[in-house]
Amino acid sequence: MVLHRQREPLTLEQVPDPKPKAGERLIEVEACAVCRTDQHVVDAELSEPKLPLILGHQIVGRDAATGERVGVPWLGWTDGTCRYCMSGRENLCDRARFTGYTIDGGYAERCVADARYCIPIPDSYSAEEAAPLLCAGLIGFRALRMAGDARRIGFYGFGSSAQILAQVATAEGREVFAFTRDGDTTGQDFARSMGAVWAGASSQAPPQPLDAAIIFAPAGPLVVTALRNVVKGGTVVCAGIHMSDIPGFSYDLLWGERAIRSVANLTRQDGAEFFERARGMRIVTQRKTYTLEAANEAISALRNGELVGTAVLRI
Ligand SMILES: [Zn+2]
Ligand SMILES: [Zn+2]
Repeated sequence: MVLHRQREPLTLEQVPDPKPKAGERLIEVEACAVCRTDQHVVDAELSEPKLPLILGHQIVGRDAATGERVGVPWLGWTDGTCRYCMSGRENLCDRARFTGYTIDGGYAERCVADARYCIPIPDSYSAEEAAPLLCAGLIGFRALRMAGDARRIGFYGFGSSAQILAQVATAEGREVFAFTRDGDTTGQDFARSMGAVWAGASSQAPPQPLDAAIIFAPAGPLVVTALRNVVKGGTVVCAGIHMSDIPGFSYDLLWGERAIRSVANLTRQDGAEFFERARGMRIVTQRKTYTLEAANEAISALRNGELVGTAVLRI
């Protein structure tokens, strides 16, 4: 499924098989989960995709040469030499390349990936179960760590990432408070079924103040809402790659050593640590499966807030 121009649908095409270069794997794709970032690329909210482009950075498949099962995440390549790479922060690499954005991704039967950035997938997960872990899970996990040791944590937007993180956070002994669009009682029921101790509308105050909050929805006003609901010293973590403008707010809301921060991309270390965690517990995801040809429908469902859980393309 190829994106030729932003703001236009993907088109189903027969393209030549990608050829792996030295150090790359050729992968037979089994499943690829749909990420909010994919929608931002189609909608031109992210400005620099390669074009034409094959989207998709939550890929699970088999190495065509060895049969080994591997996952391909968002971080596809880094230079290894810039100030960020040299200080353990390859997620911030100035020259990083990203799967399904500046490298062709997994909305396809085959893809190639630099072997150094691939992730072994635990046998206890099927391809469709593992695919959402590759971005929603592991970049979400990075966001959860940025929330520090917060015991009561608010999730604004309860989709693919939040359903995974609710289980990880609950297993760590934290309490999850889920906020959805006003009137989205289905989403609130879903959040409670995934372990949230409380679920309500984002315009509501939580029953207790939060120690930290993670913003998954791409709506800037939620940053201000979340700041109102966190205690002194609490952090508001913005987990998405794109967000609408954050409105002005009184300094009082930030005062008291509250902090706002973003989370960008992932390191290979994040991948190793998250999948270690995923191996040690059973992360369950609610998914809606689509065929590869139906990728546009999956993206529309995500855009329109019609999905409960994660959309996964079965290739
Ligand atoms: Zn670098
Ligand atoms: Zn993603």
